[in-house]
Order: sequence, then structure tokens, then C-alpha cells
Amino acid sequence: MSRSRLLALPFLLAFAAGCSEGAKDAGAKAGEQVVNLYTARHYDSDKALYDRFTRETGIRINRIEGRPDELIARMRSEGKTSPADLFITADAGALWRAQQAGLFQPIQSETLTARIPANLREPGGNWYGFMRRARVVAYDAAKVKPEEIDDYAKLAGPRFKGKLCVRSSDSVYNLSLVGALIEAWGRPRAEAWAKGVVANMARPPEGGDRDQIRAVGAGVCEIALTNSYYYVRMATGGDAADRKVTQKVKLGFPSLEGQGSHVNLSGGGVAANAPNKANAVRLLEFFASAESQRHIAQNNNEYPASPDVPAPAPVDAYAKFTAHPMSAAAFAARQPEAQSLMSAAGWR
Ligand code: FE
Repeated sequence: MSRSRLLALPFLLAFAAGCSEGAKDAGAKAGEQVVNLYTARHYDSDKALYDRFTRETGIRINRIEGRPDELIARMRSEGKTSPADLFITADAGALWRAQQAGLFQPIQSETLTARIPANLREPGGNWYGFMRRARVVAYDAAKVKPEEIDDYAKLAGPRFKGKLCVRSSDSVYNLSLVGALIEAWGRPRAEAWAKGVVANMARPPEGGDRDQIRAVGAGVCEIALTNSYYYVRMATGGDAADRKVTQKVKLGFPSLEGQGSHVNLSGGGVAANAPNKANAVRLLEFFASAESQRHIAQNNNEYPASPDVPAPAPVDAYAKFTAHPMSAAAFAARQPEAQSLMSAAGWR
């Protein structure tokens, strides 16, 4: 998913027109329970979850899909009359931006507090992460030793001059990672790191995370930054060429200050003016349930947020790493700073 972009007006209008139906008929049938879900998650496998929620609760889900910042803009423009009940997305930074825009209300839920570790939820209860994803390194196992990539600091060192592939600086995943580096190291060291990454780039940033992994496979670079689930999908999915790439390209888990790999999240928050607040809380608790976490882990190869939910196959083979305990709210709030730092470093 990408950061906010300038939207062409015709697209905006089409988007608004295309999405207004679901919102308008919210609660249209007398006595029917509904929840209006604004979601930036666009995975087919999530549909089975929504169906199960409706079967178990009788609450119908009106789904409104869009990119994170499109949905945030939409909720802002709808204001107090927004039909939005729950907003879910990947990346803590997007949740933080929605919170900054006043789009959430704090929720106190014993279920959510019990299920979600403190560092994966906003301290005031504005949003909760129910899945985790690590931002780590895919490397050419014939050329790179695991100990050469066991620390984020090493990725910016001279060993990898001209050998690194990474997507652009407007990727929220990169922004959150650099936010975490600023939080851990302070701005000067994080900026020096970003400059080192730019110096190490094998090519100008292009494509998504999977394209970086494929570029390592093609010999364009030796290492690439990627989210864990993209690699797992390529290693275990239906595409034979991608599976072949992952025989040569392995997944390594660098550490930040010896405390573990940077972990981002998928999560959500209850809308400030939710017309169906109780149903929204119920849906958020449903996402946080062990069964839902297992389902998403199986199908989207993210890691469960709850420590009592073991990672299922196939992601279990890539789940034996240490996750950095940093608060997602802390690195999320550093995204604007990360953006300016990366621009200053010449990271396109
Ligand atoms: Fe993604």
C-alpha cells in the first residue's frame, strides 16, 4: 500500500460515487444489525472472516474499500455524519494519521487489552493491532553470509555498496522502519543510515517488495528490504518462478540494537462518530480472536499479534525470530520525520 497521493478529480468523484451505495443502505432494513467497515485490507481471504462474523453475530458488514489515505480523506470529509464504524488498515503510521485527524474514539475493552500486547496498541485505546509483519532482508544465500545482515546498521555499510534493492521512500513500510530507527538511534544516526542505504542502492527504487526479492534472484542486487509475508507468499504460493527464486534467496532477520527485528502491524480503530459503535467494538474483538488471527496468518502469511496464538503453517517456518518490543505508536508518530529525513538523504 502506498502513502497518500494527489488524486485526480475524476477519480475522486468516481470513488465517491462508487462507494456511496454501501454506506447509504446502512441499517436500511428495519431491525437489522449492521457495521460499516472502512477497510484498506484488500485480501480475498478476509471475505471468509466477514462471513463468519455475520454467521456468529447476525451483524451484516457493509464494506467500503480504498487505499488507507483515501479512506482517511473520506472520513474527514464526511465529518460528524460519517457512516464509518470501524477503520482497518495495514501499517501503524496510517492508524496514527487517522488518530491525528481525530477520526477515532478511545475504546476500553477487556478482550482487546487481554489479547493484544501493549506495544501493538495505541496507549489511549484509539487503535489496536491484530496481526504483525516484520520488515526484514531477503538475501542471496550464495553471496551473503547471514551474519552480514544480522543488524539493520550493516545494511548501510560499505559491504553492500551497489548491492541493495529497496522500494521508494513513500512506502509506508519504509517510513515505519525509518521511524523505528529514529526512535532507537536518534535523528543524526538514522539520517546517516538512510544516506548509506542510498549509497548502497543497486538501482533507483522501483516496484514493490516482491520486485526487490525477484531482483535479488535475478542478480541485480544481493540484499533487499522486504516485509516478511511477501517472501513467505513467494516461497509457498502457486507461482513456480517465485518459488524458484526463494530457493536461491533466503529471508534474514536483522536486529535493531540487539533487541529484534522491526515489526509493523495490521489493525484498526473505532470511528469517532460510529453510528454502530457496539458492533464496531465487536468486530474489532472478532479480528483479535485467536481463530481470526490464525485465519489471517494462514492466508496472508502475517504473524498473529497474540503471543498465545502459534503461527500456523506455512508462516511458522519463518516465525522463529525475535521481534523488537518497540511501541508501534512510537515509530508510527515518527513517520513525518522519517519522510523528511529520507528526502534529505536522497532516497526517492
Ligand atoms: Fe503489503
